[in-house]
Amino acid sequence: MVVELGRVTDEPGRLTRTFLSPAMKRANRLVGGWMKDAGLTVRVDAVGNLIGRLEATGVGRTGPVRRGGAGRSALPKTLLLGSHLDTVRDAGRFDGPLGVLLPIVALGELRRRGVKLPFAVEVLGFSEEEGVRFASAYLGSKGYCGQLTAKDLAMRDADGITVGEAIARWNGLPVRRSLGEVGTSSRSKRVGVNALHLNATHQRGELLGYVEVHIEQGPVLEAKKLAVGVVSAIAGQSRFKLTWTGKAGHAGTTPMALRRDALAGAAEFISGVEAIARRTPGLVATVGLLTVSRGAANVIPGEVVHTLDVRHARDAVRRSVLRQIGRLATQVANRRGLVRRWQRTQENTAVACSPALTAQLARSVAAVQGKSPSLVSGAGHDGVVMAALCPVAMLFVRCRAGLSHHPDEYAAPKDFAVALAVLTDFVERLAKDYRG
Ligand SMILES: [Zn+2]
Repeated sequence: MVVELGRVTDEPGRLTRTFLSPAMKRANRLVGGWMKDAGLTVRVDAVGNLIGRLEATGVGRTGPVRRGGAGRSALPKTLLLGSHLDTVRDAGRFDGPLGVLLPIVALGELRRRGVKLPFAVEVLGFSEEEGVRFASAYLGSKGYCGQLTAKDLAMRDADGITVGEAIARWNGLPVRRSLGEVGTSSRSKRVGVNALHLNATHQRGELLGYVEVHIEQGPVLEAKKLAVGVVSAIAGQSRFKLTWTGKAGHAGTTPMALRRDALAGAAEFISGVEAIARRTPGLVATVGLLTVSRGAANVIPGEVVHTLDVRHARDAVRRSVLRQIGRLATQVANRRGLVRRWQRTQENTAVACSPALTAQLARSVAAVQGKSPSLVSGAGHDGVVMAALCPVAMLFVRCRAGLSHHPDEYAAPKDFAVALAVLTDFVERLAKDYRG
């Protein structure tokens, strides 16, 4: 399944699937087929999330669950299992898909064994987590939770298409009208979402929790020689778009002293950020994308735009470092006669996983693997967004050399098997202990 899904790409010769792209549509069709084979009812929501639902089959069943129907409180609760189906550019095959495919296999297995579940299960394949197309992550899970703001919908991709337009096109809606509706939605930050008829949110208390299986994307499990581990917390993260504006000029005729070189300023700033990160334990800071506007070999760069991503497990540390970085940017800009603009494109506080749900997951890990190590996730995950909706727990699977976001990303089938056994055991125990 992983290999087959890994062939579904927007770019020939390498794996790239981005938000609402043609390949995402094909991926939804392929994975949706596997969901149906496992007995799930499949739908794709307005932001492109693939949702496979298995109704409760065990004790306490009160008939088919209808969202928004009468007698809602009497209906069984829902357990959410999932991850994302989008990828970075030139990606590996496991980051994301593993957490969508393993639950499908687990539910198929439970069905074959005739295990009754007193709660419904939804397997979620989020349409956007990596932040590739709009340089802002979690659009899929935010859409699922009804958290997309008018600001989110107004972000533009490299072709100038806004999130709102992309969603409208995906849904076959007239683009201008939908955007007009978004534009007039001042009453609440979330009205824009309703105007586009995006997802209705699950009601609070209706969900048992969200559990995500994901490759570790780090070297800890490999060092411990263990296949899986539970996640205690996800590091907080801030992402920015910075624009440095100087003055373009002829590379041959403008003396060095008279230059206002936007790229040289950005470079000094970026080196300074690296130095700050190096002396702050546990902190990581990255500039991963940089564009020299109208750049040419014989032109002094007049404008540079780049991203900045800063993460730490403790929010207080991250915030203090961001203040240092802000002062650095001001110093560099003042000294070099540059104008710098900041735009915050993402802000996520550190997220603690649910102690109760994590303990249940750890119990299954201990049962299958013997030991149950606990890890902090330096990478962001859909759980960051889902934590606003329900308790969250995560299971990490060992990946070779901690490598991810790369075509050589690899997790061994024997490790999936362990993760599958853990997930199956977890759902089964949850069903056994379930009190309604
Ligand atoms: Zn991922």
